[in-house]
Amino acid sequence: MNPIFADLPTTVFEVMSRLARETGAINLGQGFPDSPGPEDVRRAAAEAVMTGWNQYPPMMGMPELRQAVATHYAHHQGVTLDPEREVMITSGATEALAGALMAIIEPGDEVVLFQPLYDAYLPLVLRAGGVPRFVRLQPPHWRFTEAMLAEAFSPKTKAVLFNNPLNPAGVVYSAEDLALLARFCVRHDAVAICDEVWEHVVFDGLRHSTMLNAPGMRERTIKIGSAGKIFSLTGWKVGFVCAAPEILRVLAKAHQFLTFTTPPNLQAAVAYGLGKDDAYFTGMRADLQRSRDHFAAGLAERGFAVLPSAGTYFLNVDIAPLGETDDVAFCERLVRQHGVAAIPVSAFYAQDAIRSAVRFCFAKGDAVLDGALGRLDGVA
Ligand code: PMP
Ligand code: GLN
Repeated sequence: MNPIFADLPTTVFEVMSRLARETGAINLGQGFPDSPGPEDVRRAAAEAVMTGWNQYPPMMGMPELRQAVATHYAHHQGVTLDPEREVMITSGATEALAGALMAIIEPGDEVVLFQPLYDAYLPLVLRAGGVPRFVRLQPPHWRFTEAMLAEAFSPKTKAVLFNNPLNPAGVVYSAEDLALLARFCVRHDAVAICDEVWEHVVFDGLRHSTMLNAPGMRERTIKIGSAGKIFSLTGWKVGFVCAAPEILRVLAKAHQFLTFTTPPNLQAAVAYGLGKDDAYFTGMRADLQRSRDHFAAGLAERGFAVLPSAGTYFLNVDIAPLGETDDVAFCERLVRQHGVAAIPVSAFYAQDAIRSAVRFCFAKGDAVLDGALGRLDGVA
């Protein structure tokens, strides 16, 4: 058996969700909203199941969805994409990530990764034969500098895997940050695999910038998106990959043998949803921002040091001021003794982990957030 997977522990999200179920804890660990998602989009899926096509759709995705993705990004990001040559539909962002790494990386190629990193990245990079080179980001700002990139990039760099907005940090990198990273990609002739699944979940009037628009990156960016995050339907697993035709052609070869296709009815519903007017997207952001502010204020009232969150469903608290030095032990105690599940941020580091941050998902109704806050009384 391959040790990369055989020796892997179960993902922290699954472990924490199971523990939350077993202990009856309020689950603010794994990132999923407790709202049902937009009714019209769910009805479009139901309608497509009943009256639409239920056999294999085209391998690259339903034409209506590929077109909808191109139109959506033209409107929201100002990027022009040819739906037939530059857009492919995958079974979630996870498949897109796996396929991109399988298709791009040859054994020995170096891949620049930013810690904290989404837990799927490292095993997929290693299984593709890639050699990770880490950039270590730290709270409270989680910023990277030219010197940090200069340490990580080398003549062997083949790709960088970049998540923006960054889960779990809740940071949204600016066009200037992207331009800095772009300079390194261009200089080292590296491909940027950009996990932009949180692109619509940004707050305080910020706008997400896609790496596709960074200087020199149009031909070397693989942009990955997910309907799961855009519509708060995380179980749907409909992802999109946008890349220049020469790259997409190769990614399609991986996709054809990973999943080949994605359920056509969900694709049809996502195609419908991507065309929703701006009010939907601003409304979603406003609702989540209100939940963030409500939860952050409740935590602060109870003595927690809340770190800023400009995007994603997540915010972090700094547990160092509480005298805590082990985020895993803290989360264990939180779930078993106080009935609230959270995620220790050290789970997002492969080496030199930060042990002082704990991630909470705030994409929940007020009653759930208030219930959790009540249970956190007296912890800090
Ligand atoms: N990348 C990041 C950064 C994520 O947070 C998630 C899920 N929350 C994914 C990828 C997976 O997306 P999907 O469910 O579409 O596979
Ligand atoms: N992306 C979600 C999170 O960060 C979890 C996804 C999963 O459970 N694999 O919480």
